[in-house]
Amino acid sequence: MADQFKRYLTCEACRYTFVSDKDLIQCPDCGKPQVRKATGKEIEDYIRIRMEIEKENMG
Ligand SMILES: [Zn+2]
Repeated sequence: MADQFKRYLTCEACRYTFVSDKDLIQCPDCGKPQVRKATGKEIEDYIRIRMEIEKENMG
């Protein structure tokens, strides 16, 4: 998976984890500048949620 080369970032304010190919300083969800690198656990959660969404989309 190429995903491991992307940056996983988490917003401290709303705990929203997202992937970016550049260093964002603002959360795309709540707009607060409290973004930091995601932890391993947060990355795991993000991947699991995304896989569940993909499964649902496949029916
Ligand atoms: Zn946020």
